[in-house]
Amino acid sequence: MATRTSPNIIITGTPGVGKTTHCELLAERTGLKHLSVNQVVKDRECHEGWDDEFQSWIVDEDKLLDAIEEEVKEGGCIIDWHACDLFPKSWIDLVVVLRADTTTLYDRLSARKYPEAKLQENLDSEIMEVLLEEARESYDEEIVVELQSTTADEMDTNVDRIEAWLKQWKADSGTAAS
Ligand code: ADP
Repeated sequence: MATRTSPNIIITGTPGVGKTTHCELLAERTGLKHLSVNQVVKDRECHEGWDDEFQSWIVDEDKLLDAIEEEVKEGGCIIDWHACDLFPKSWIDLVVVLRADTTTLYDRLSARKYPEAKLQENLDSEIMEVLLEEARESYDEEIVVELQSTTADEMDTNVDRIEAWLKQWKADSGTAAS
């Protein structure tokens, strides 16, 4: 049983579904720490170079886990990343998989000027529910939650729900006052 006094949450999903926006709002409202894996990979060089076709870093997962282990084990992290199967089960208390309508996602990724191959791969991944599958295969089903993130109203509702979950987690673990 983990001894952390604040839970760790993964916010995952296909690029463009709203992970960073949700994490920033949540961090502001709850005081939990937004751990942007993208930023860690870049800043702490947890990669094996740059993939030109996909315009992204080739992540070295072992290096990444080493880089964040100490911080995550202390608890209170909101992990923002478009994969989730690499994090040990014992680190994680809640996995939120954000979903977005394909047309909306297309617009968001086009606005980022993603190369065609990357855009198509991400749309396929959303349609095939790749991240939802990955989350369900990697964690106990009762800690995996799928939430829609197409509209601003949905985002507000999601943040409220996660905040309520956090309150409950703290009450259950007897750390509500801390
Ligand atoms: P990710 O971190 O998953 O790549 P972002 O948080 O960067 O996604 O969001 C991509 C874009 O979509 C941003 O411009 C953001 O404001 C917008 N967005 C994300 N979620 C929503 C939502 N639920 N409603 C409206 N706009 C959203």
